[in-house]
Amino acid sequence: MSASPQAVRLILLGPPGAGKGTQSKLLEGRFGVRQISTGDILRKHVSDGTALGKEAKAYMEVGAFVPDAIMIAMMEQQLVGLDAFVLDGFPRTVTQAEALDATLARLHKPLSAVLLFDTDHAALVRRLTGRWSNPRTGRTYHEEFNPPKVAGICDEDGGPLEQRPDDKVDVVEKRLQVYDEQTAPLVDYYAKTGFLKHIDALAPIEDVTAQIFRAIGARDGATA
Ligand code: ADP
Ligand code: AMP
Repeated sequence: MSASPQAVRLILLGPPGAGKGTQSKLLEGRFGVRQISTGDILRKHVSDGTALGKEAKAYMEVGAFVPDAIMIAMMEQQLVGLDAFVLDGFPRTVTQAEALDATLARLHKPLSAVLLFDTDHAALVRRLTGRWSNPRTGRTYHEEFNPPKVAGICDEDGGPLEQRPDDKVDVVEKRLQVYDEQTAPLVDYYAKTGFLKHIDALAPIEDVTAQIFRAIGARDGATA
């Protein structure tokens, strides 16, 4: 398939709990653009008990990153044959970002933008500790900010919601620390490329979606 320069190709950059997954699902629904969530892919491996899942689980449960080589190989597989995408949770290190640049250059699929979700620590802790997820689809809710119609049940598939083991407060603090140390340097990395756009992720969910639409020059689900 030849690559279209107008295709929406986004990286959502920001700490855990910033709202990347929430917005990716909304973009999928409105644009049909595929979300690639490395966290969701890894959790599926863990629940399927694959060799990768067994290896990844040890890192995930303590809030550490899965090694770059594994993540880069996973992302290369995902990107083949895909023209438009929203990357949620990748890249998370400078090594991953450099590998992604090389892959996208080889596939002739330039990025549209890197959207940086600006938040603060207290909001992130509150969002993560109140998050409920559908492990089958990756869709997330929040007990206060975005509750399902029936507590503990997914609006979409009617199945049970779960709290992620790594959303416990001590693991959350570790994940936020790892973000500051290993992922925050990507802000400078992408600022230098001119792709970086800031999103006020402390705003309500619909406002964040509207900001994203403005940032990518889209109106009501159609690219301008
Ligand atoms: P991430 O994918 O960046 O880790 P999520 O999209 O899963 O974050 O959001 C984390 C939690 O915060 C979820 O419970 C979600 O419902 C909630 N949330 C997401 N965006 C907002 C927002 N703009 N305002 C309030 N709560 C939000
Ligand atoms: P997330 O669902 O994005 O919060 O990711 C959950 C966990 O999966 C992280 O805390 C990491 O352990 C692991 N993970 C997801 N994406 C990556 C990545 N790009 N690099 C390293 N580890 C990752």
